[in-house]
Amino acid sequence: MGFFTSRIGRLKPSLTSGSAARARALLAQGRNIIILTTGEPDFDTPAHIIEAAYSAMKSGQTRYTSTDGTPELKQAICDKFKRENGLDCSPSNITVSTGAKQIIFNIFSTTVETGDEVVIPAPYWVSYPDIVGYCGGTAITIACTADDRFKLTPEKLEASITRRTKWLVLNSPCNPSGAVYTRGELKELGDVLRRHEHVWVLSDDIYEHLRYTDDEYATIAHVNPDLAERVVTLNGVSKAYAMTGWRIGYAAGPEALIKKLSVLQSQSTSSPSSIGQAGALAALTGGNDFMASWNQQYRDRRDHVTAALNAIPGLRCSVPDGAFYAYPMCDGLLGSRSREGHVLSDDTAVADYFLERAGVAVVPGTGFGLSPAFRVSFATSKTLLEDACARIAQACMELEPEHPGAH
Ligand code: PLP
Repeated sequence: MGFFTSRIGRLKPSLTSGSAARARALLAQGRNIIILTTGEPDFDTPAHIIEAAYSAMKSGQTRYTSTDGTPELKQAICDKFKRENGLDCSPSNITVSTGAKQIIFNIFSTTVETGDEVVIPAPYWVSYPDIVGYCGGTAITIACTADDRFKLTPEKLEASITRRTKWLVLNSPCNPSGAVYTRGELKELGDVLRRHEHVWVLSDDIYEHLRYTDDEYATIAHVNPDLAERVVTLNGVSKAYAMTGWRIGYAAGPEALIKKLSVLQSQSTSSPSSIGQAGALAALTGGNDFMASWNQQYRDRRDHVTAALNAIPGLRCSVPDGAFYAYPMCDGLLGSRSREGHVLSDDTAVADYFLERAGVAVVPGTGFGLSPAFRVSFATSKTLLEDACARIAQACMELEPEHPGAH
């Protein structure tokens, strides 16, 4: 029995921040490092949003707001869900928090007891299992491989559900794989969930607007309206509007749950920032026209990165349909040896090798629950991405294969 709780002992520092911190330490030593670990857009927040926040401050919107969002913002979120997702909700179904991450934290803190299970398809965003574990639950991670296009199949979902299952987490487009579920796939998952009435769904749609196919976006509560009473649809302005630092996330869900989330928030952060909310209101009401040009740039970078990585022997990179990450599998590099004699035994060793030898920082797949792989963020300039891929290719060429002479 020490000073620190067992709860905090179950939390690990975020792996993505750790990889970035090591890269920055090398940068500080004067090394030329390209950082591809970033989980945020490299674009600036659009000017009309900044102006709206400035006006809000000048007009006195500098005080606490109602606990889980201003009435104006909640209404704008209802309108957004109706307009873009076909979801009918009223302000009493809406919660607004300090980032989508706080909503995930609020949800699992409010609903997960010791022994409860949360099904999380892997690869997954690093924070889900940690938050579940912190709340005393057990993360049941299900490997969804490149052959499954990194998506949960109905069979795997069925096999993962037990009496203790409380939640299924769906994240489409997915961080880190970029996988996007189609309407048909969500329908099939819904058919399984219909048979298990005790299972709720957290649909993390935060990358909704970052997609590179012409398919219409589908979210599970819309595809399966009869399940909506046990679905939370989570979104935010961080990724779509380049507003990660504004810290505003929001969700729609059943009123009884939304009320409990508000109680927890009232005793933790009191309310999200009034200024952030004014900015989010401008984002959700100001039109999305600028996104087409951003997406064109992301798509162009994606095409370059995936082609360049696929040209490297030992790497296999699926082309992501959404988000701004590529997730190449690197099993073909394992067992090979660096010039210094280090054997690349797992994806952490591969990421370390790229950092040391190529000066390129990526995040090893181990933190995302599906190895051996690594995550490359393409939310950075094309010039840097071209340089980074060329450096990785060169570093891979310098590796001694596992069995010299076998090739
Ligand atoms: N969900 C996913 C899948 C993410 O990648 C992130 C951020 O990286 C978040 C949620 C949290 O977003 P925020 O707290 O900035 O709204």
